[in-house]
Amino acid sequence: MSHEEMVALIRRRGVRDTLVLDALTRVPRDAFVPETHRCDAYGDYPLPIGYGQTISQPYIVALMTEALSLKSGERVLELGTGSGYQAALLAAMGLDVYTVERIPALYEAARARLDALGYTVHCKLDDGYVGWSEFAPYDGILVTAAPAEVPEPLWAQLAEGGRLVIPVGPPHGYQTLWKFIKHGDRIERVDMGGVAFVPFIHE
Ligand code: SAH
Repeated sequence: MSHEEMVALIRRRGVRDTLVLDALTRVPRDAFVPETHRCDAYGDYPLPIGYGQTISQPYIVALMTEALSLKSGERVLELGTGSGYQAALLAAMGLDVYTVERIPALYEAARARLDALGYTVHCKLDDGYVGWSEFAPYDGILVTAAPAEVPEPLWAQLAEGGRLVIPVGPPHGYQTLWKFIKHGDRIERVDMGGVAFVPFIHE
């Protein structure tokens, strides 16, 4: 599949946010996958990026990004930098991007790659369970690995009206993609369906 065909497929599957579709068109996914998988870079499936981790399926990336309903200039936190592709998309959308990764080699590689490609993204090496309180609150928080429960510290780091998009479920078991919206003390929740993500590790 070509880059254009990947974007066309995602549009056909129902993603309509032009900010998201434009970013998908502009960000070169092939620069975020291992050289051995370059020819598959625009297929609609996850690919291995080493250390047992994967760059997520493009349609799921698009679906989650759209669900965040972000506007240019808003602040977003991603937990699970991985290859840096999702972070690059968010940066290409004109957002103020913060991302946390716990595996040192992936963190280093993603940071170098984002820098080389000219994306402004604030990267941190840490257990993302604690979020990144220094720059909170966030209009959007996106978690790209699946914890068994929503990490408690994230609720306080979500802005009023902010959106949290996160897969929740047992490691390698059935996981649900949730969208949570903060309205004061009340949290609205939307079930976005079943997904399969690598586990979110918290020791
Ligand atoms: N968003 C990535 C895909 C991420 S795969 C991309 O666009 O390529 C999930 C990532 O979450 C892996 O890199 C994994 O190491 C990371 N991860 C798992 N648990 C984590 C935690 N507690 N804190 C931060 N990162 C975590």
